[in-house]
Amino acid sequence: MSKPIMLITGGSRGIGAATALGAAARGYRVAITYLGNVAAANEIVQKIQQGGGEAIAIQADVGIEADVLRLFKTVDEKMGVLHALVNNAGMLEKKMRLDQMDLGRWQRVLNANVIGSFLCAREAVLRMSTKHGGIGGVIVNLSSAASRLGSPNEFIDYAAAKGAVDSMTIGLAKEVAIEGIRVNAVRPGLIYTDIHISAGEPGRVDRAKAGVPMQRGGSAEEVAETVLWLASDESSYVTGTLLDVTGGR
Ligand code: NAP
Repeated sequence: MSKPIMLITGGSRGIGAATALGAAARGYRVAITYLGNVAAANEIVQKIQQGGGEAIAIQADVGIEADVLRLFKTVDEKMGVLHALVNNAGMLEKKMRLDQMDLGRWQRVLNANVIGSFLCAREAVLRMSTKHGGIGGVIVNLSSAASRLGSPNEFIDYAAAKGAVDSMTIGLAKEVAIEGIRVNAVRPGLIYTDIHISAGEPGRVDRAKAGVPMQRGGSAEEVAETVLWLASDESSYVTGTLLDVTGGR
């Protein structure tokens, strides 16, 4: 059997990069995407190649349909039959109350986090589903604990976007359960990555960690382990599940 192929959107940094490195170590051939940080993407590809693995990086904005179509076509042509999609690319904007937010922000946040996940999920199902001649596969969505906490005074828009990802996970899992595809979501809590810089608070995890029952933030690797378990056959009877990785928060 040839090595399975995993596509990780936003695999250039943070949780996506940790997932890419972990996937390569487990024998996957890896395709990662990035939005603008080509240097970070190339660094992950090089690390995988230096370890004897295979990886490619593709620039694509997951919120733009033409980019997503080009992305999947490139994976088809350069790598082959896709086995696993990790819908990891996501973003948030500066923390503020809802009554300070404008329409443009909501469109950007919903576009990247919701539409991006839907576009990639559709393209994956079209390739993986036995209904479409595929051989099955797995989809793991990166949601957030924000979807059930609501993120008041910070980013209700982001929390609501992740709520939509949760609903998509549940619905799509049921829709394709007999077509060979499992769909699950991981909901991280406070994880040490650069995403908090976008919120205007690089030290957010350390500021908020006292509210975590385990009294600490999590690492990108701890989230990646969960993603990789859900992508593996070890979770073969798990679908439609929202798995919290939050230290109990
Ligand atoms: P991160 O460190 O900020 O990395 C984000 C990654 O996504 C980068 O590779 C970035 O590419 C890419 N990206 C951003 N917007 C994109 C777009 N529109 N199209 C394509 N790629 C895009 O983020 P992270 O903290 O690892 O988060 C990963 C996922 O976990 C996200 O879905 C996030 O919402 C979720 N999450 C994170 C936390 C946390 O505490 N960190 C908690 C809950 C959920 P560039 O490198 O080119 O910028």
